[in-house]
Amino acid sequence: MHEVGLIQTVLNEISQVAAQNHITRVTKVRLVIGRLNGALPDVLEFAFSVLTPETMFEGAALEIESVPITLECERCGTQTVTDELAYFCPQCSGRARVAGGRELYIDFFEGDDGKDEREGGNGPEDPAGQ
Ligand SMILES: [Zn+2]
Repeated sequence: MHEVGLIQTVLNEISQVAAQNHITRVTKVRLVIGRLNGALPDVLEFAFSVLTPETMFEGAALEIESVPITLECERCGTQTVTDELAYFCPQCSGRARVAGGRELYIDFFEGDDGKDEREGGNGPEDPAGQ
């Protein structure tokens, strides 16, 4: 499944950025994926649910923005949003090029260092030390 490898790559990339920013727990991930990548949102969500338990992504929400295919005519410049890839302009039958739908990137992710929002108990300093 194409989607599993895709999600694994995303998790690896976010893990690296998170480590650099002292983030130990990721709570939300948003991806932008063009239809031309052929990745199905349902399958991506399934892959995410399979790959994230017992990782820093456990329980995180996955949001997927699916970008439709946009064609732009090389002759008349008409832009057409479509669900199916075509090679000719519906206006003038000129040759169309793909102007959108190949996107594949991490829009953003949210996380924290796992230390905040802890009620009561220890103060800001940990007196026990090591
Ligand atoms: Zn045209």
